[in-house]
Amino acid sequence: MHVNDHHRYDLLVVGSANADLVIGVERRPAPGETVLGSDLAVHPGGKGGNQAVAAARLGAVTALLARVGDDAHGRLLLESQRAAGVDTEGVLVGGAPTGVALITVDPSGDNSIVVSPGANGRLTPEDIRAARPLFEAARVVSVQLEIPLETVAEVAGVMSRDTRLVLNPSPPAPLPDHVLAACDPLVVNEHEARYILGEAAGATPGEWARALLKLGPRSVVVTLGAAGALVADGRTGDVVSVSSPRVEAVDTTGAGDAFTAALAWRLGLGEQLAEAAAFAVRVGAVAVTRQGAQESFPSAEEVSVL
Ligand code: ATP
Repeated sequence: MHVNDHHRYDLLVVGSANADLVIGVERRPAPGETVLGSDLAVHPGGKGGNQAVAAARLGAVTALLARVGDDAHGRLLLESQRAAGVDTEGVLVGGAPTGVALITVDPSGDNSIVVSPGANGRLTPEDIRAARPLFEAARVVSVQLEIPLETVAEVAGVMSRDTRLVLNPSPPAPLPDHVLAACDPLVVNEHEARYILGEAAGATPGEWARALLKLGPRSVVVTLGAAGALVADGRTGDVVSVSSPRVEAVDTTGAGDAFTAALAWRLGLGEQLAEAAAFAVRVGAVAVTRQGAQESFPSAEEVSVL
């Protein structure tokens, strides 16, 4: 598929890049105690990094705007982005150590996670303004909340009129009105929908979607795990349910990131919301059939044979 316009990138992802450091343990240490664990596994992660890799693997011409440290983790993250085909010209280096997630996994599969945002927390509004040419070159911009909220607000501020903003408010935080108003769509899971709506949340996803539209975004997508997604268009008021293919889920890590990246890419190619979501649920469904986050993201060909 090719859209003939002046945009150099199908998708610009603005967000976090983390090194996920994972150790398996029999049990977690009590305060003051030391336990031995498995060999260390290091995986590239962070919602921004995940989305960029997911989109590039599908065939989207993708750029990442992020910040990593001038250290071994930062080099690993840059390398994995490049290996997936992501343009890393916009990845800034230095200012703090690369963001890391320290993860212990117990035999039941439960995770305990400590995140050090590091360089992700140093991606500033000024960095966004300095990257304006990247924004002008992108058909769609996708952003999440693992970077400072003031930086996300600046993203909404620098958007050019013919570029579409996709926002996944994860981890959830209060959003300024002008950011909400720029979203097309706001992409939330059940937890994020309930956080944003608070007491006003209704009982059904349809009610959440309608209530979220009232907060100002041009459109809303609610992801519903195995049940797929619900899309709501503020222009028409239509709410449409998009079902997911039935699959054997083994690890849902990164499914939301794969879904959002796929959705953003297809919207930029001119698809309607329900059509783009129908593709995105298939991408999410393939991702949950495999272990890991970035390792689990499919190519377009793998999606087509699902
Ligand atoms: P995560 O935090 O695990 O990355 P999320 O909570 O943000 O995900 P979900 O709604 O759980 O988002 O999943 C996103 C999409 O992934 C769903 O809309 C669906 O397309 C796909 N998906 C997730 N779980 C399953 C499943 N068990 N079977 C099929 N598809 C799934």
